[in-house]
Amino acid sequence: MIRRFINWLRGLFGRAATYRIQVLADVPDRVDDRTLYVIGERQNYWLAIMRCPCGCGAEIQLPLSGSDGPRWTVSGTPKAPTLTPSVHRTKGCRSHFFMRGGTIIWCR
Ligand SMILES: [Zn+2]
Repeated sequence: MIRRFINWLRGLFGRAATYRIQVLADVPDRVDDRTLYVIGERQNYWLAIMRCPCGCGAEIQLPLSGSDGPRWTVSGTPKAPTLTPSVHRTKGCRSHFFMRGGTIIWCR
C-alpha cells in the first residue's frame, strides 16, 4: 500500500511526468494533462495546445505557422517533444518554462 503511494508520487513528480505528442486534425474538445496536441495535417501543422504545467488549469495555445506574432516549433520525437522557444504566459499564472525531450524545465 505504501509502496503504491510512493510509486504514485513518483509518477506525478518523477520521470513519468513527461509530455507526449498527440496529433489531431482539429482542436480537441478536452485537453488532457501531459499531452502536447499538435493540430493539422502532415507538413501543415498550425497549432499546438497543452494544459499549463503549473497546475492552474489554463489551456495554452501556441501557433506553429503564420507570419504574424510569435511562433513555436515542435521537434524531437512523439514521446519526447521539444518546444522552441520557451513558453511565457503573460496573463494568469505567468508561468515561464521550456519543454525539452518531453520534460518541463522551469525558468525562474
Ligand atoms: Zn499555469
